[in-house]
Amino acid sequence: MIILDGKKTSNDLKEEIAAEVVKRKAEGKKTPHLAAILVGTDGASMTYVNSKVKACEKVGFNSTLIDLPEETTEEQLLHEIAELNNDKDIDGFIVQLPLPNHIDEQKVLMAIDPDKDVDGFHPVNVGKMTLDLPTFLPATPFGILELLKRYKVETSGKNVVVIGRSHIVGRPMSILMSQKREAGDATVTLTHSRTKNLSEITQKADIIVAALGKAEFLTGDMVKEGVTVIDVGITRVKDETKKRGYRLAGDVDFDSVAPKSEFITPVPGGVGPMTIAMLLKNTLLACEKVD
Ligand code: NAD
Repeated sequence: MIILDGKKTSNDLKEEIAAEVVKRKAEGKKTPHLAAILVGTDGASMTYVNSKVKACEKVGFNSTLIDLPEETTEEQLLHEIAELNNDKDIDGFIVQLPLPNHIDEQKVLMAIDPDKDVDGFHPVNVGKMTLDLPTFLPATPFGILELLKRYKVETSGKNVVVIGRSHIVGRPMSILMSQKREAGDATVTLTHSRTKNLSEITQKADIIVAALGKAEFLTGDMVKEGVTVIDVGITRVKDETKKRGYRLAGDVDFDSVAPKSEFITPVPGGVGPMTIAMLLKNTLLACEKVD
């Protein structure tokens, strides 16, 4: 069993990006600049945004955090987005999801300039991704592809089962892995909450991407020997033994699945850190586009 070490791989990636930034600066080129908008005080969202900002500092990017109160109106948020769209110094920006209920998420995502949409959520970028045209790939699927590539996990002709059809993980993952590409060329089955006999499907999988958000859902009896397992889930599970009162759990029951796996990602330290590294990669790409 080989651990797909997202922490180490993301650090390698960050070093490569940092070296690129040093080179750019020496050549008198622009320093990449990522901005993030956070609306409200959701604990998990604040943690994610802060780690994104910290990661920017680590690789030598400029970063801007726009911290807006919970009661921000949709109009005010759209105004902030328009400002970032027009700001020549900002190469890319993200709006941290989820947004408060009174704000229409779709409207907000549509307002982002596709050339600055480093999360890859704008319909124009989703369309380009689907057609296999150059674009910003959504960070989590992009990170999974990178992890598979760097560990030379064979995907060509393999049976891949993706659990979860969200727009940010499951669906793009299923599209990307079915494409003719590195870490692609797979035969993909996309499963979801209405899928019948999921166990029968996962038992035939060479590679499973679990992205459903249910702690320790995938158990050893649901997988075959030699499977590769990518665990995307991050769920806070109550745990009185921890100082903060909870622990982070993946969608995979690591203890029963790992012994049957050829490759497996841990939680934490698997897909999570890769997501942040790929956001930085997309920001660097956005900056290079305007050189
Ligand atoms: P989501 O919550 O939007 O959707 C969950 C999906 O799982 C749905 O498509 C649903 O049909 C499917 N599903 C639910 N129950 C199921 C079941 N019993 N069997 C099969 N399918 C089922 O999903 P999301 O936003 O992709 O998030 C999934 C998980 O991944 C969450 O824990 C989230 O926190 C985590 N996540 C992690 C990262 C990262 O960087 N590691 C990034 C994004 C999301």
